[in-house]
Amino acid sequence: MEDPVIALVRFLVIKRLAGNSSMLMAVKEYFVDGVSPSSISYKYKVSKFRVRGYIQRVTEKTRNSYLASSIIKQVFPLILEIEPAVIKVNEKYVCLLCDQSFNNEITVENHLRRKHEEHINKAIKEVLESVKELSTSS
Ligand SMILES: [Zn+2]
Repeated sequence: MEDPVIALVRFLVIKRLAGNSSMLMAVKEYFVDGVSPSSISYKYKVSKFRVRGYIQRVTEKTRNSYLASSIIKQVFPLILEIEPAVIKVNEKYVCLLCDQSFNNEITVENHLRRKHEEHINKAIKEVLESVKELSTSS
C-alpha cells in the first residue's frame, strides 16, 4: 500500500492544481473543523453523496480519520500555496500548462494525471519537504 501521507498529499495536490477549491475546503472542514457532510453540502452547493464520496476516498487513503485529520491539518496551508494549473473561464476549464480546455472537473483531473505527472510530483515533493521542515523545527 502507498504511504498514507503521500497518497493523501497527492489527492489534495491534484484537487488544488485542478482548481477544485470547494472540494479542498470541504475535505478540510470535515476532517479538521468537524463540520457535518450536510452542512458542507449546503455551503458548497454539491450533493451530500459527492461530499461523502470524497470523505470516503480520503479515509481509504489513510485507513483512519484521525490520521487523515492530523495530516490535513499540517499540509493544508502548504497546499494552498500551490499555484492552480487550471482556471475556470466562462464555464470551461483551461489548463495553463498546455492551453487545452475542458468541460468538467473530472476530465481536468484525468488530464493532469495523464499529461502533467511531473508537475504533480514536483508539487507533492515541495509539500513533503516543507512538512519535514515543520516537524523538525518544532
Ligand atoms: Zn494541460
